[in-house]
Amino acid sequence: MKFEDYRIAESIKKALSELKFKKPTDIQFKAITPILNGEDVLAIAQTGTGKTAAFVIPAIEMVLQEKKRHADAHIRCLTLVPTRELAVQISKVFEEIGKYSKLKVACLHGGVEQEKQIQSLTAGADVLVTTPGRMFDLIHQGFADISKLKMLILDEADLMLDLGFYKDVTDTLKHIPKKRQTLFFSATIDKKIKKLAYSVVKNAIRIQISPKNPVAKNIDHAVVFVEMDDKRFFLENILKEYENKKFVVFVRTKVRAERVVKAMERVELKSVFLHGGIEQKERFKILEAFRNGEERVLVTTDVAARGIDIPDVEYVINYDLPDNPENYVHRVGRTGRGRNRGQALSFCSDTEVLLLEAIEEYTGEEILQYEVKPEDYDQIIFGSEDSSNDWKRLMKQFETDEWLDK
Ligand code: ADP
Ligand code: MG
Repeated sequence: MKFEDYRIAESIKKALSELKFKKPTDIQFKAITPILNGEDVLAIAQTGTGKTAAFVIPAIEMVLQEKKRHADAHIRCLTLVPTRELAVQISKVFEEIGKYSKLKVACLHGGVEQEKQIQSLTAGADVLVTTPGRMFDLIHQGFADISKLKMLILDEADLMLDLGFYKDVTDTLKHIPKKRQTLFFSATIDKKIKKLAYSVVKNAIRIQISPKNPVAKNIDHAVVFVEMDDKRFFLENILKEYENKKFVVFVRTKVRAERVVKAMERVELKSVFLHGGIEQKERFKILEAFRNGEERVLVTTDVAARGIDIPDVEYVINYDLPDNPENYVHRVGRTGRGRNRGQALSFCSDTEVLLLEAIEEYTGEEILQYEVKPEDYDQIIFGSEDSSNDWKRLMKQFETDEWLDK
């Protein structure tokens, strides 16, 4: 089936054709029709498989239908997301696919001034994409009204229903009509979250694609055992070996993100860090520079683990393993988007073996181990251009000499 054959407005088809979206992806094929039929849907499909358009296309169609029936302007569709970057990204997909549909999209998120966001609301938004905090601020100030919406979408639904956001979601439910359509989308979902989802809506249809291993099938992922202190040499080695490729490097903390960037600077490798402690305008700028290729290496925390769609990222490095196994799936999912293939490599130190086991239990498969021979391991350390590494070379030299003496 092609998008041409769908019961959707010509204005949507025209935009899709401009975006070169000809055929729906699997999840789009399975989800769009039930959503157009008004069903509640819980959709689970791997990272990079086009979940955004799977809800954006039928959501825009719904808005157009509704506007034909009642001309008055109000928010008809609300999409809640966990991060500011994702709010911007998804509102852009609404704008692109709604380009010829006279769709008015408002995007709200914290960290910036309210004025422009208020203007987009008072201009009569049809669709709202937002992180919860700013939305509630603007509801309480009387600028945002979601009381008449027809459709609620939770993207990264498992995270939105988890501890950090659950109250926001239940508070949202108090502001919106009981009679509405509710959609949940994610790449990962567990039993507990599924239960919560079904407590929000009774008869949601579950649509699940490739449930066995949640890691997207076009990602080759492996793990390499590296001592904690040697991680930077391994990163240096890989960044130099693949000098034209785009990398996302995940670390455990903000401080570590900054340290890794400094360590790479010492060996003349340019990278940039992104984390939740940076001013929001700067965060957007950094991500944009990475998106448009001005920056090649993005060192970041789990703030960028979910949803971010940058199609030409070739490599994900887990410089530190994530604390929760779902985030492994989301982090490696920043590569291998759409039809692209992706590579992911995790650095596992002695202290992280338990985390690795938890990830393997979660994905249901052992992760391929990338074997490094001892002489190659030494070579990676010796080969570093980091002069602060000299003592290490000396030690190694000493060990080797000693061995030679014997
Ligand atoms: P997910 O939310 O499942 O991780 P996204 O919605 O971010 O994935 O989509 C991943 C990529 O696939 C995006 O770059 C998007 O433009 C592209 N894409 C989505 N649907 C199609 C389609 N039908 N044809 C071609 N490309 C598509
Ligand atoms: Mg997504």
